[in-house]
Amino acid sequence: MSTRWIFGNQLCMDLPIIKEADKESDVILMVEAKSRALWQSYHKQKLTFIFSSMRHFAEELKDKGYTVDYRKADSFRDGWEEHKKAYDSREVHLTHVTDDRMRRAIEKWAQEVPKEITVHYEEERPLFLLSKEEVKDRLPGDGPWQADAFYRKMRKDFDILMEDDSPIGGKWSFDQENRKPAKSDMEFPKKRTFRPDEMTKQVMEEVEENYGDHPGSLDSFIWPVTRQEALKALNQFISDRLPLFGTYQDAMLTDEPFMSHAVLSSAINIGFLKPSEVIEKAEQAYYDGEAPLNAVEGFIRQVVGWREYMRGIYLKKMPAYKKVNVFDHDTDLPSFFYTGETKMKCMEQSIKPVVDVGYNHHIQRLMVLGNFANLFGISPQQTSDWFNEMYVDAYDWVVLPNVLGMALYADGGVLSTKPYVSSANYINKMSDYCEECPFNPKHKTEEDACPFNALYWDFLDRHEDKLGDNPRMKLIYSQWNKRKEEDKEALRSKSRSLKQQLAKGGLH
Ligand code: FAD
Repeated sequence: MSTRWIFGNQLCMDLPIIKEADKESDVILMVEAKSRALWQSYHKQKLTFIFSSMRHFAEELKDKGYTVDYRKADSFRDGWEEHKKAYDSREVHLTHVTDDRMRRAIEKWAQEVPKEITVHYEEERPLFLLSKEEVKDRLPGDGPWQADAFYRKMRKDFDILMEDDSPIGGKWSFDQENRKPAKSDMEFPKKRTFRPDEMTKQVMEEVEENYGDHPGSLDSFIWPVTRQEALKALNQFISDRLPLFGTYQDAMLTDEPFMSHAVLSSAINIGFLKPSEVIEKAEQAYYDGEAPLNAVEGFIRQVVGWREYMRGIYLKKMPAYKKVNVFDHDTDLPSFFYTGETKMKCMEQSIKPVVDVGYNHHIQRLMVLGNFANLFGISPQQTSDWFNEMYVDAYDWVVLPNVLGMALYADGGVLSTKPYVSSANYINKMSDYCEECPFNPKHKTEEDACPFNALYWDFLDRHEDKLGDNPRMKLIYSQWNKRKEEDKEALRSKSRSLKQQLAKGGLH
C-alpha cells in the first residue's frame, strides 16, 4: 500500500496523487497539526476556514470510496508516527508545496523516514497553471522582472483571450479603463456568503477553546468550506458581479468591503477552485456577451498574471526575500491593526473587514494599509507577519511578494518599478472615506491635516538617495525640489510629530 499525504492548502480532487491512488489499497493521510496553527497568531476565521475545509474534504474523499486516515495531532511528525503504526505503508506520495518553511520541514522529515519507506514528490498542478520549474524558467536571472511581459507570454502560451497571435480587443491590458471612482450612493450586487454548518460550528468551538487568544472575530463566518460552495461563489461572481469588476476595480466605498471583487482567493489558494477553471469561466462570459472585455481581461490578468508571477518571484527569491528592508524601516506596527479603532476613516474601513472576516480587496491592502506602513516606516517584517496572520487567503508564497515587493517596495524594485506610495489625494479621489474623516485631505501641516500628506513628502525626502534617479519618480522629485526650504521643513516637522503621536499610541 502507499500513503498519499494531503496538506491543508492542497484540497483538490484533481491532484495527481489523488487521481492515481488505488482506492482498494492506498490510504489518504491528512494531519490537523496544532503546532502548525501556532506558527503565528492566526486569525480565528483563518484557522476555522482551513480546519473545516480539511474535514469536509476528508468526508468527500470517504464518500468517493477512498480510505482516509484523518489525524488531529500536536505536530505533523506525531500525526505521521501514529499513521505509521496504524498502516504498513512502503511509499509516501506528496504534492510539492510552495511555502519555504513547510517545504524544508517536509524535506527534513523525508530524510529521517526509515529506509524501507520511499518518498515521492508529485505535480502541484492544477493548484497553479505552471509547475515550480516552469515558473522559475519564465523569470531568468536575478531580476528585476516585469509583470506585464510575464502576463503577455502567459496569455499567448495558454491561448487566453487571443485572436490568432493578437490579444482580443487590440491591446493586452485595459487597466486604464479600470480606475473609475465609485459614487457614495452606488450599490454593488451582494456577494454570496455561506452559513457555517454543524461541522464548521464544531471547528469554531475548538478554535475558541484552543486558540482563544488569537486575533479576529468568529461572529460572522462567511467562507465556502467545500468545492461545491466555492463553485456557487464562482458562478454567482461570474453572472452577477464580474460585469462591474473592471470599471470599479480600484474604487473604495464606506461599508462596501467586497464591491465587485471576486472574493475567491481563499477558495483558489486552498485548492477548491482551479485557476484554469476560474479563467475559463470568465473568458466564456466574455464570449457569451455577459461581461465586457475590460472586466474579463482585468480579472484574468490577476489570476493568469499576478498570481503566477508572485509565486515565481517567491520561488526565485526565497529564503533571503523574507528579510528585505531596503528603506531600513523599523517602527512597530500599531496595535489598532488588530481592532480597526483609529480616527483615520480609510484605515478603520480597511482594518474592520479584516478583523470581522479576514478579507480586504486589493486596493485597501495596497493603497491604504501598505501605504500607511510605508509612510510611517513600519517594519516590513512586522507588516508581512500581520498580513500572513490576518487574511483567510494568506500563505507565505503570496504574502511576501505582495507585501514586501508590491506594497512596500522593501525589495528595492524586484517586481515593480516604483513604490505605490501616495498622499491623501489618491484615497480622496478613489473613495468616499475622506467625507466622514476628521482629518482633512486638503491640509498638509495644519492640526487636522491628513497624515498621508506630510508623510508622503517626508518619505520621498528620506529616500531620495534610493529613489531620486528612478525615471518614474523624476517628476515628483522635481516638484519636491522646487519647494521652498521652509515648506520642506514644515512638512518634515509635521511628519516627526505624526510619528511621535503614533509611537505614543495616537491616531486612535
Ligand atoms: P480579485 O480582486 O477579484 O482578483 C481575482 C483573483 O486574482 C484573486 O482571487 C486572486 O486569486 C488573484 N490575484 C489578484 N491579485 C493578486 C496578486 N497581487 N497576487 C496574487 N494573486 C492575485 N492575495 C492572496 O491570495 N493572499 C494574500 O495573502 C494576499 N496578500 C496581499 C497583500 C498585499 C499588501 C497586497 C497588495 C495584495 C495581496 N494579495 C493577496 C493579492 C490580492 O490583493 C488578493 O488576491 C485579492 O485582494 C483577493 O481578493 P479577491 O479574490 O476578491 O480578488
